[in-house]
Amino acid sequence: MRAVIFEQHGPIENLKYVTDFPDPVAGAGEVRVRLRAAALNRLDLWVREGWPGIKLHLPHIPGADGAGDIDQIGDGVTDLHIGDRVVIDGGISCGKCDFCLSGRQNLCTTFSILGEHRPGTYAEYVVVPARNVLKMPEIVSYEDGAAASLVYLTAWHSLITRGKLQPGETVLIVGAGGGVNTASIQIATFAGAQVIVVGSAGKLADATALGADAVIDRSGNWSKAVFELTGRRGVDVVVDNVGKETLTASIRSLRRGGRLLIVGNTSGPIAEVDLRYIFSKQISIIGSTMAPHEDFLKVMHLVFSGELKPVIGKRFPLAQAADAQKALAEGDVFGKIVLTV
Ligand code: ZN
Repeated sequence: MRAVIFEQHGPIENLKYVTDFPDPVAGAGEVRVRLRAAALNRLDLWVREGWPGIKLHLPHIPGADGAGDIDQIGDGVTDLHIGDRVVIDGGISCGKCDFCLSGRQNLCTTFSILGEHRPGTYAEYVVVPARNVLKMPEIVSYEDGAAASLVYLTAWHSLITRGKLQPGETVLIVGAGGGVNTASIQIATFAGAQVIVVGSAGKLADATALGADAVIDRSGNWSKAVFELTGRRGVDVVVDNVGKETLTASIRSLRRGGRLLIVGNTSGPIAEVDLRYIFSKQISIIGSTMAPHEDFLKVMHLVFSGELKPVIGKRFPLAQAADAQKALAEGDVFGKIVLTV
């Protein structure tokens, strides 16, 4: 099959487009999807670069997001058929542990992400557990399906399931352009919250077009700007996926008793925190990553009904995945980058 692979961790140049990669085969309980679109996530860059202790079967195919047609069905799969148009939930869990059985698959002790620890979606075919696919209606494009999955389920789980965001609350989203941030703007707006976005100047107009009620240029003292915007009260909820560079300002932006959602660390994993803010303002710090399958189903149905519309910033053919990763790394694209297969 056609696929984009790397044989060694390292720079973008390590990505290779090949046409003779062995086709995967669906085992028991699995399906094979003939992919039509894949979408990029920052995770793809980290997996390619590698980290201490990462153990992958090389060559490796990146990619956590994808949509396509079922073209092979493993033993024991009865509710899916060849030709079904499907979108993939990239969170892979065991289906047997206490967390899985109680519907909290993203806490599964062996939880992994498609394209992180197993072959991903930068390819013509991918094999996934049958429970990880959802049939898509004809009106939803493969590209929208692929672009929606991971970012919407991640944003939904953090804001709604973990963050318990309520209508009328104010939420500050730190970062404007990344896929999860654009999804967070849309989901917070959908939930009836007032949305403030801090981001780079070039992306603020897009954030406003997407539903943000107020935008703040990140180059200034933005926690002070948030304080002034909220009548010196601070926001109810902050979503921070930047980490090291923004944590202190995020905490300062919160109202007394506010909730800080930590959903990533694009600027670095180790941050210093002034604990006096945490206890004196009685702030809750809530971690969130990926989502249980139920949240995936919820957000995809909102995509199917048109209430959430994925933002696709740029498209590349599969063979140009290296250019696509370069565009993602440079950070100039607003919304998702999609590969057409
Ligand atoms: Zn499990």
